[in-house]
Amino acid sequence: MKTYRIATIPGDGIGKEVVPAGKRVLEAIAARSNDFGFEFEDFDWGGDYYRQHGVMMPADGLDAIRDKDAILFGSAGDPHIPDHVTLWGLRLKICQGFDQYANVRPTRILPGIEGPLKRCSPKDLDWVIVRENSEGEYSGVGGRAHQGHPIEVATDVSLMTRAGVERILRFAFRLAQSRPRKLLTVITKSNAQRHAMVMWDEIALEVSKEFPDVTWGKELVDAATARMVNRPASLDTLVATNLHADILSDLAAALAGSLGIAPTANLDPERRYPSMFEPIHGSAFDIMGKGLANPIGTFWSVVMMLEHLGERGAARALMTAIEHVTGDPTLHTGDLGGKATTAQVTEAVCALLASNSAVTSEAA
Ligand code: NAD
Ligand code: MN
Repeated sequence: MKTYRIATIPGDGIGKEVVPAGKRVLEAIAARSNDFGFEFEDFDWGGDYYRQHGVMMPADGLDAIRDKDAILFGSAGDPHIPDHVTLWGLRLKICQGFDQYANVRPTRILPGIEGPLKRCSPKDLDWVIVRENSEGEYSGVGGRAHQGHPIEVATDVSLMTRAGVERILRFAFRLAQSRPRKLLTVITKSNAQRHAMVMWDEIALEVSKEFPDVTWGKELVDAATARMVNRPASLDTLVATNLHADILSDLAAALAGSLGIAPTANLDPERRYPSMFEPIHGSAFDIMGKGLANPIGTFWSVVMMLEHLGERGAARALMTAIEHVTGDPTLHTGDLGGKATTAQVTEAVCALLASNSAVTSEAA
């Protein structure tokens, strides 16, 4: 029997509610399998840790999680600590430290969920956004000078390396190739950003030659927002820079019904380091500590974790359970217009996993 070693990092706000819920679901998954189980180690990094120690995580924190099979993350963001401190001090430290260069964000309108697009039937929206997760606009390069003086200056330099662009585009082509439509849209802004984005376009053309069976096209990022709203079915797999994909994927999450549902994976495709799985939402200060957070985004992230671990049968079983639960409006949380609590949604998913153990045993 295989034991997967999982680091859980709830972080801040509703991260402390949805990560334990995700852990419960993983335990329910393990209970129905004879082939594998999980060993969890919980890390109390985040805003509270910062108040005690002056840092979001210990200096040697990466070493403590380096040999895990995967990381389940909640959210970093505290009402009393600046956002750039919490983000750079924890989540980006892990993403960059472990070179998790591919951020993957699937978006679908799940059964029972009403998206805001009137003319869109749920089957029209089935996307995966691939976000470059290691450089670009969020490389951290830049600085400030003349602070407090009228000539104050600040720069955030967007860095695009040939190696970095090539590997994310190759990853995106490969992912597009694995999906039924084999359709990739490369998002650019090479009309205005005339250096790095032009290189990005050139590399896209080069890499595309390795994937003759993938249909691909380019779209400027601003036009892409309109296309997502007006012609969602014309898109399938998308790839974009760190900043562009950050924005597009929040739009995607909203078009699919709620930020509370959307999952993401921060992958090291080469598997040199553990990959990290997390809901895309933040700490949700307005509802934290009340047991009202929608845990579906975390559960879907757990599906992605199971896929990454090679447990496809378990991943499918959990996704089926999730879709059953979203299909029942009495199990909708507040973000979906319902009254259900985090605990109720979690129990419902776990109960389904316990009852239909038939779906389980296909695990690899
Ligand atoms: P947010 O995602 O925390 O909240 C936006 C809105 O969506 C809020 O009204 C919130 O209640 C609602 N919401 C989000 N997730 C929900 C869920 N699971 N169930 C029900 N409702 C949900 O975004 P924000 O308000 O911009 O950010 C709050 C803090 O979180 C900030 O400090 C920010 O930096 C941080 N943040 C962290 C991450 C991350 O760690 N990956 C991502 C986004 C924001
Ligand atoms: Mn974002």
